[in-house]
Amino acid sequence: MSLTTVVRDIRSRQKIKFNPPDRPTAVWTGKDILDGKPIATLTVIFQTTGCRWNNCTMCGYVYDSSRSAPSHDDLIKQFEHALSRCRDEEFVVKIFTSGSFLDDGEIPTATRIEMLSRLGADARVKKVIAETRPEYVTQEKVSECTEALGKRFEVAVGLETSNDMIRKDCINKGFTFADFVSASEFAEKENSTVKAYLLLKPPFISEGDAVKDILQSINDAAKYAGTISVNLCNVQKGTLMDEMFERGDYRPPWLWSAVEILKLGKEANPGTVIMSDPVAAGSKRGPHNCGKCDTDVAEAIRVFSLTQDTGVFQGLSCECMELWKKVVELEGFTFGSVMVK
Ligand code: SF4
Ligand SMILES: [Zn+2]
Repeated sequence: MSLTTVVRDIRSRQKIKFNPPDRPTAVWTGKDILDGKPIATLTVIFQTTGCRWNNCTMCGYVYDSSRSAPSHDDLIKQFEHALSRCRDEEFVVKIFTSGSFLDDGEIPTATRIEMLSRLGADARVKKVIAETRPEYVTQEKVSECTEALGKRFEVAVGLETSNDMIRKDCINKGFTFADFVSASEFAEKENSTVKAYLLLKPPFISEGDAVKDILQSINDAAKYAGTISVNLCNVQKGTLMDEMFERGDYRPPWLWSAVEILKLGKEANPGTVIMSDPVAAGSKRGPHNCGKCDTDVAEAIRVFSLTQDTGVFQGLSCECMELWKKVVELEGFTFGSVMVK
């Protein structure tokens, strides 16, 4: 049975919540880094028909999609609702759709152009980052976006790993590293920057292999992406990862693994912005250590992401560090069994 069949079977048993079509799935404000300095961010997840691929083993975003395609007016109301949430004098807008902003099936071209033109005319907006799968990134499409926006535009791609085998056999992502490279080249030809999201610890690999994979992926992706964001896996409902977690066959990554990756990754690639937002840190379904040190370690990861200073990790320690080292060393020998919950 293929991973796609398994994922589709799990998806068919879930309920999709109803949200009014003129409201985005989520909006929140936060902080990011721009030209070496912290800046406010407005993140919006538009409610669309969702990802056309919809087959990844860890992804529960499909349950946020709309039951029927929102109209142009609905999408513009979502946009206006999101923009009204930010009171900062200047900020970066991060656009997600639980799929791909550049997919015309989710966001029609006219709607996308209207949104970007409005952001272009808004002097508070310093940069727009939009996430998409690489197959929707063509030179023409990026050019459409940059022309409408008239200011800094960044194409963000959920590359997850530079290893095609892990992306296929652990994540079932449905594209290759070469596809990401092409997307990056198209973006750069249109003077857009590129951000790559990497995924620490998909199902079916040990903690040690996961750390090695992301360190290698940072080195590989840094040639094509000025910013790399390391997503620390959290277990989303209605996914294959969720079923494995409930059976005791999956543990999210340790926060110590993230610290190691950010430290070594930054040292090897000083010119690349490397960041991580440890969502659900400290919870059993999110990245965690022993429970005692999680808050401090997650905070250090957030501070590093805004300062790029690996010195923030220096004072961190906890007795669980030795246990984490043993897990990294030995989990590869357990034939998939989780060593420590
Ligand atoms: S491509 Fe992205 S949105 Fe689509 S299923 Fe995979 S992780 Fe989810
Ligand atoms: Zn600890």
